[in-house]
Amino acid sequence: MRSYTLIAPAKINLYLEIIGDRPDGYHSLAMVLQSIDLADHINVQVNGTDDIRIRCDHPQVPKDKTNLAYRVAELIVAEFPNAFAQYGGVDITIDKRIPVAAGLAGGSTNAAAVLVGMNLLWNLGLTQTELEELGATLGSDVPFCIAGGTAIATGRGEQLSPLLGLDNIYMVLGKYRSLEVSTPWAYKTYRQQYVRSYIKDAESLAARAGAVNSGAMVKAIQKKDALLIAQELHNDLERVVLPTYPQVLQLREVLASEKGVLAAMMSGSGPSVFALCESQQQAEQVMLQVREKIPNPDLELFVTRMITHGIQIASSV
Ligand code: ATP
Repeated sequence: MRSYTLIAPAKINLYLEIIGDRPDGYHSLAMVLQSIDLADHINVQVNGTDDIRIRCDHPQVPKDKTNLAYRVAELIVAEFPNAFAQYGGVDITIDKRIPVAAGLAGGSTNAAAVLVGMNLLWNLGLTQTELEELGATLGSDVPFCIAGGTAIATGRGEQLSPLLGLDNIYMVLGKYRSLEVSTPWAYKTYRQQYVRSYIKDAESLAARAGAVNSGAMVKAIQKKDALLIAQELHNDLERVVLPTYPQVLQLREVLASEKGVLAAMMSGSGPSVFALCESQQQAEQVMLQVREKIPNPDLELFVTRMITHGIQIASSV
């Protein structure tokens, strides 16, 4: 049986600005996305049947057709019937290490890995752009997760402009295991509260999205200056998530107040919070101190770092 094992990194948002509404009902966004070395391992394997089967022992991950990894495989089956006739179904095994429903694109990066894996397994010969286009039909974060690194994302998050990749900036990442924030809820609540501040006309929307290219965050990234990057962290969704989830606010405050932390912020729609640190050593120290201050066993803490890549092949058989 042929099989590929892929490394599927999580992402954080260094910048997330909600600009306005789009005619398709999504929000128009300006974001800076960053891959981190916290990653799931995904194995895709020809299984000799006509079925797509998901295996994962993480209790919060669906094993049915709602799993994004299943949905992407189903999409490829529909798009490439000849390859399906030749190779048959696939087993997808997810070794889940990225916290679920955390604002870290866990499902999206699994979908990206299945795209890359099935492209190889079925010899489809799809280019990165073709993979990104397929991925965009399933979720706005999927295209970014394919090549990863550091990128500006506009539109609903699927229009990408790669930036000079950041690496070896360390952080502490925290997430309460039992706390999940629904991304649709976060955006819906934001709309209810802030729709009056939305930019309405298409030209001004495009200009505002374009402004991120020359904005302070992108300049800080070009300088690879961790302190400047920390000063420019921004996430509009904090305005609705932090008041609703006091535990997340407290975690952010504790992280931000630690010695060696440059700045702390929630990622995406949360509830994960990351704290950029001066060094790996500082990050490890910060993690110990936060563990002492918040001894709640429900709180998962990781030391992780920025990386310059998305999906990578770990092995093939
Ligand atoms: P998003 O911001 O895209 O909503 P997220 O990063 O906050 O996502 P995910 O880890 O992708 O969160 O999980 C969101 C929901 O998606 C979960 O509650 C889970 O039921 C569902 N899901 C579907 N497929 C997967 C997958 N492969 N891994 C994790 N969750 C998945």
